[in-house]
Amino acid sequence: MKTLIKGGRLIDPANDRDGLYDLVIDKRKVLAVEKPGKLSEKDVNGAEIIDARGFIVAPGFIDMHVHFREPGFEYKETIETGCQSAAAGGFTSVATMPNTDPVNDNRSVTEFILRKAREKGIVNVFPIGAISQGLKGEKLSEMGDLKDAGVVAYSDDGRPVMNSELMRRAFEYSKMFGLPCIQHSEMLDLTEGGCMNEGLVSTELGLKGMPTEAEDIMVYRDIALLLKTGGRLHVAHISSGNSVELVRLAKAKGLQVTCEVAPHHFALTENAVKGYDTNAKMSPPLRIDSDLEAIKEGLRDDTIDIIATDHAPHDVVDKQVEFNRACFGIVGLETALPLSLRLVEEKILSLGKMVEKLTSRPAEIFNLDRGALRVGDIADVVIFDPDAEYAIDISKFKSRSKNSPFDGWNVKGKVIKTLVAGKTVFSASSN
Ligand SMILES: [Zn+2]
Repeated sequence: MKTLIKGGRLIDPANDRDGLYDLVIDKRKVLAVEKPGKLSEKDVNGAEIIDARGFIVAPGFIDMHVHFREPGFEYKETIETGCQSAAAGGFTSVATMPNTDPVNDNRSVTEFILRKAREKGIVNVFPIGAISQGLKGEKLSEMGDLKDAGVVAYSDDGRPVMNSELMRRAFEYSKMFGLPCIQHSEMLDLTEGGCMNEGLVSTELGLKGMPTEAEDIMVYRDIALLLKTGGRLHVAHISSGNSVELVRLAKAKGLQVTCEVAPHHFALTENAVKGYDTNAKMSPPLRIDSDLEAIKEGLRDDTIDIIATDHAPHDVVDKQVEFNRACFGIVGLETALPLSLRLVEEKILSLGKMVEKLTSRPAEIFNLDRGALRVGDIADVVIFDPDAEYAIDISKFKSRSKNSPFDGWNVKGKVIKTLVAGKTVFSASSN
């Protein structure tokens, strides 16, 4: 069965393409990409036509940082509901963090996740294996075995690796296996008991703060270890201006350091916590204006490589409690596109650059055969309307959880269709 996506503006940064193109998909793959009117009769014969006039057609988005709660916390999210949430957000590939129960620190859990994802067949799921057994930070996981089972990176995310010797060895092994280590950068001794950014607002609200230095020191330590060991460090959800500067310096030194930012860290400041809204409680916490400015500059000059959501669904029982007792994190997949488009509106990124940070760049860092639309590539595609205006409505989320500080926000940018390997997995019209 052929599909012709006709008349859209195709943005495919990996191939330097940005313009009007018709795209033909046959079975699972891209069959042809041609300027309007240039397709042969043979190419389009019998194809189902999707009219993409006025829309952007791009490789499906790739999110390298999601928490799907299965196994262990299926009441928050399952692999199936997480994949539906991803498809609704325009994501065709996601990488799942290992802080499930049991932890993904061994082959059997990795295989369980891959099998579940395959059975549901919605979006591609790339598991991330734990650095340490049980995320305890004491002994390394079976890193080689995890790689054989199919993980694309190692991380203890949700928790930092506090032990420097263990982290040093993690870099050494991961270098041997050719995969990056993703660090949740936080010195726990500086953040113990903290539930928001340390500063004026935390003092006003009487809440215990988490200083940016907790992040900066860990980023600095990991860069120092990287200097010694080689290997690859990917800094998860960067939130502090100083951390961005450290990554910039490490890159200038030629170290293999990359980093990501989550949309809430460029869209919100600690002011969102006023009123004790637990939907504004995340780790790392929302920071202040000067951090946001530094993050935007980091996006502009490519110090910040990619946008990743840190999708962290939580049930109401975990969020409708006092602020200091609530879980950290928000649903991220279904608001990422409109929030990222604000960067385009603010002229921080071009549309092409935004697409790059959501597609080809993550594919490149994590060595995935996705994120591009040349002939023969697997046809993972998103079609979106960058101008459609609407109000975010959490009751429409496909995620099993609804925790989001963006409910009711008026935004621009709507996913029209998401295709994975040529098959439509989300369609706005059927919604
Ligand atoms: Zn984290």
